[in-house]
Amino acid sequence: MAKSAATHCPYCALQCAMTLTSPVDLAPASQPGPGPVPAPDPAPALEVAGRDFPTNRGGLCRKGWTSASLLNHAGRITEPLLKGADGVHRPIGWDQALDLAAAAVKDARARYGADAVGVFGGGGLTNEKAYMLGKFARLALGTSRIDYNGRFCMSSAAAAGMRAFGVDRGLPFPLEALDTASTILMLGSNVAETMPPFVQHLQGARDAGGLVVVDPRRSATAAFTADGAGLHLQPLPGTDLTLLLGLSHVVIHENLADAAFIQERTSGYNAVVRSVNAFWPERVQSITGVPADLIRETARLLTAGARAGGSYILTGRGVEQHVDGTDTATAAINLSLLLGLPGSARSGYGTLTGQGNGQGGREHGQKADQLPGYRKITDPAARAHVAAVWGVPEETIPGPGLPAVQLLKSLGQPDGVRCLFVHASNVAVAAPDANAVIKGLRSLDFLVVCDFFLSETAAEADLILPVLQWAEEEGTLTNLEGRVLRRRRAISPPAGARSELWIMARLAERLDAPSTYSEDPETVFEELRLASAGGLADYSGIDYAMLDRGEAAYWPYPAGGTGTPRLFRDGFAHADGKAVMVPVAPRRRRTPAAEAAGHATEPAGTAMTLITGRLLEHYQSGAQTRRVPELAAAQPEARMQLHPGAADAMGIGAGTLVSVSNGRGEVVCRAELSTTIRPETVFLPFHFPGAESANRLTEAATDPVSGMPEFKFNTVWVRPVAAP
Ligand code: SF4
Repeated sequence: MAKSAATHCPYCALQCAMTLTSPVDLAPASQPGPGPVPAPDPAPALEVAGRDFPTNRGGLCRKGWTSASLLNHAGRITEPLLKGADGVHRPIGWDQALDLAAAAVKDARARYGADAVGVFGGGGLTNEKAYMLGKFARLALGTSRIDYNGRFCMSSAAAAGMRAFGVDRGLPFPLEALDTASTILMLGSNVAETMPPFVQHLQGARDAGGLVVVDPRRSATAAFTADGAGLHLQPLPGTDLTLLLGLSHVVIHENLADAAFIQERTSGYNAVVRSVNAFWPERVQSITGVPADLIRETARLLTAGARAGGSYILTGRGVEQHVDGTDTATAAINLSLLLGLPGSARSGYGTLTGQGNGQGGREHGQKADQLPGYRKITDPAARAHVAAVWGVPEETIPGPGLPAVQLLKSLGQPDGVRCLFVHASNVAVAAPDANAVIKGLRSLDFLVVCDFFLSETAAEADLILPVLQWAEEEGTLTNLEGRVLRRRRAISPPAGARSELWIMARLAERLDAPSTYSEDPETVFEELRLASAGGLADYSGIDYAMLDRGEAAYWPYPAGGTGTPRLFRDGFAHADGKAVMVPVAPRRRRTPAAEAAGHATEPAGTAMTLITGRLLEHYQSGAQTRRVPELAAAQPEARMQLHPGAADAMGIGAGTLVSVSNGRGEVVCRAELSTTIRPETVFLPFHFPGAESANRLTEAATDPVSGMPEFKFNTVWVRPVAAP
């Protein structure tokens, strides 16, 4: 008999609602071991259908439509695998695997100290797993060295939100609020490819001529502004912050600011005025390439929108994944505060969370500097609260650890991490300076990777622990609106796979860890409620039963209270209730000459600026979507996009094999010519491994506030590869 489950997509933070239907309760009888990407199961038995929900309204994208095909994929890992001296992974039993992992932890601790053990988590983990991973790392492993791949995703916007508003919730309003907006300024996000059902919420502003997209490429989202439906501002890469200062300059100097709001609800205004004085539109045009009249028109559109149906400013990774990403997001927030958008009933500022549980994943203790409930790990009151919930002395909880890039740089170093656990991350492809990351992974004493496929990171592991997929277990996620959602078990998992909760519980036993480690998701959620109570991200009023009834649960949702679909109506989260405007300034970018100075040999080819990003068909490192045949067929390989004019000057045609290189590495791939990109810029998707891995070229320099690496502005040298 067919079985259906109301659940949500396993991929991005839009968390589209879907119904998963199985003809039978699937329990795959046998699964071959890992190897090269194998042929998929010829007859996927599960069907996906979009389900009506306020965010996706029944819509799904290609990734969502095909998501079920991975559940019974032939390449699934279904037994623990141990790498032999010959480099080959072979099956072992669970007891042996867990004994080996526990022994590696004890050995590293005994030889180098507790911080020689590290944990790298992921924004795809459920809230329950993210919470338990933070507890497991700090109590069972006794290490401060835990961080996660959200550091590469949301950290800049999160840091900017914390300093401006005192709290970080991606969208502090329901997504549906965008429907009636007159103006939407979207900076550095290509939702038409990354989360297509989102575009429904841009339609109203577009029809009103009020959609403004800022992107160096004429992306699918930017193209949505065509035919008088809005504006596309196409700045030089790395100049977004200057552009935002120019917009604020116009708002201030044309008296468009909301003076009453600024007076009553913000601090720091005068310093921000001084910080934008030097950024009049004509000067900003000379730096960014955006025409001064478009800068003025955008500022006026935002003002008119705020006075009519509403104005929203939204940022994405395009402006945040920089070494000045926090300041750039801060500049966007300053602009929104000048216009009085945050806290309004019909306007606002928001940032678009990317990973499936990128929001919840950054609230419950996976971050190096955080405890559950979005508490600071250095705050004595926060430590005391969490220690009481965990039933341990406060001093048992280690202090802050290392942000992701620094953690990865420490791998194998004398005072660094020597034994690493990786969950829901494929750092060998997705982390910056990927060649250096792979070298670090290979220098570890012991690497444990929990995954369901042989990702490029799992391939490096000493021990691979096979885990469950999304439809095989219960749990919760928090979408880009801060709304907590139920993920439901629809099918049985393969016999040999285990939940990360089960793995942590069994390892905690072997390590004689203090406190308790339940393997039951609802029990863990109940503990999470207690741990988050009174924190910024307070889940204490949320339970599985209300989620099962379909009640909307936006945090903060204190016990006995109500949820908060729209934040800041009565005040911001700082002690005085005001939002803080922080003056920021552009930073000098590394020149091609400086980049070339780091090369061992003279770079060959033409210097170009590299932007990395995403494609419609793939998600993150592509470890999952590259295994979906329809997606892999549509986008089988990385292609470097460049402008035909630039290509012509370099002797490159469509399909030419090109070398893209800098001091960190080289990518070899085919060229794709497009007039949608600026002539001095090239684009590479980062979903592909090996010789096509874009992150071989990205720099591991980080934003000093957030720890965000530089993904969107790297100098590369491009040349055609001579035919053999
Ligand atoms: Fe899944 Fe995101 Fe696509 Fe929706 S937009 S179907 S959540 S990948």
